[in-house]
Amino acid sequence: MKICVMPGDGIGPEIMKQGLKVLEVIGEKFNHSFDVTEALIGGVAIDETGVPLPDTTVAICKDSDAVLLGAVGGPKWDTIDPSIRPERGLLGIRKELALFANLRPASLFPQLKDACFLRPDIVDKGIDVMVVRELTGGIYFGEPRGTTVENGERVGFNTMIYREHEIKRIAIVAFEAARKRDKRVCSVDKANVLDVSRVWREIVIEVAADYPDVELTHMYVDNAAMQLVRDPSQFDVIVTGNLFGDILSDEAAVITGSIGMLPSASLGENNPGLFEPIHGSAPDIAGHDKANPLATILSIAMMLRYSFDLTVEAECIEAAVEKTLSQGLRTGDIMDEGGKLVGCIEMGEAVLANI
Ligand code: NAD
Repeated sequence: MKICVMPGDGIGPEIMKQGLKVLEVIGEKFNHSFDVTEALIGGVAIDETGVPLPDTTVAICKDSDAVLLGAVGGPKWDTIDPSIRPERGLLGIRKELALFANLRPASLFPQLKDACFLRPDIVDKGIDVMVVRELTGGIYFGEPRGTTVENGERVGFNTMIYREHEIKRIAIVAFEAARKRDKRVCSVDKANVLDVSRVWREIVIEVAADYPDVELTHMYVDNAAMQLVRDPSQFDVIVTGNLFGDILSDEAAVITGSIGMLPSASLGENNPGLFEPIHGSAPDIAGHDKANPLATILSIAMMLRYSFDLTVEAECIEAAVEKTLSQGLRTGDIMDEGGKLVGCIEMGEAVLANI
């Protein structure tokens, strides 16, 4: 199993170091061989090569079975030419790998329920939602788009467009993901108003015929935004377009209250998937052994599950993380009353010991 690892900037190298130790121990325990190659992306790539996504990085990624990313960006590169900003590296690699599906699980470990913003009676029902967002189509990329002047006033316009093949492939990702979870998909659209949503719904229903073991429901996006805070326990997998997914995945993430805990995956059709924590490079704490490595460690669990079909190994990592939290270990971002404050290294080592 060939893995390209891109630690990136800020806390990226620190959290990735802990993640890779976990991967190594999983390899030993389950007798797998992970062939890891490091590559440059973001600010460090700019410093060394002048561009945020060197050709060699793209080549290494394409030659791998999966790609792991820490984070990119930081104040050092905030004032450089926007066309070579570190974030361009991230957008660039997503494009090069044709990653059209973004999987964002938002689950609340019971040990961290005090960090959740919702009422205790809602939290007690549990939160384990996976938002599957279409990433390369919809209104963010639809044509025509632009700005103009009509009758003396300024006008802006975009096009929300989805083609059958785009809807089909994202629906398949959602149903496949549901099969690895609680076997429920809720498709979110605005079919009462938008024509594009009516086509979306029609095609999702057609795809569902191939997944009789998975329950399909539909919900309008305004209701979904409300239901996510009213009772997130009702959701398993939510599948939706680019715009709605952008909003709902952030909403789902924030209700768990801990940015340092949340992993993500971006998947393409025949290319390696990209796995990364949802947080950024946290320059305010970089180099101080304060970063929470758990989102990265959980991203590695996602990689094992989605790229290599190693479910038991993924569950082993998730259980080790849960046990570590049960032991009361907390980095600063998830610190609570009675918790033991630890740094990035100590947190990583505790997870290793629990594996
Ligand atoms: P951020 O996610 O880096 O940080 C937000 C806050 O959360 C900070 O206070 C930070 O200390 C804290 N935090 C984040 N991750 C943490 C962790 N693992 N453990 C403990 N605390 C953590 O967002 P930001 O401050 O808006 O952005 C900083 C830089 O990261 C910017 O250059 C931005 O462009 C970049 N960024 C990169 C990505 C990515 O690489 N995918 C995503 C978002 C932002």
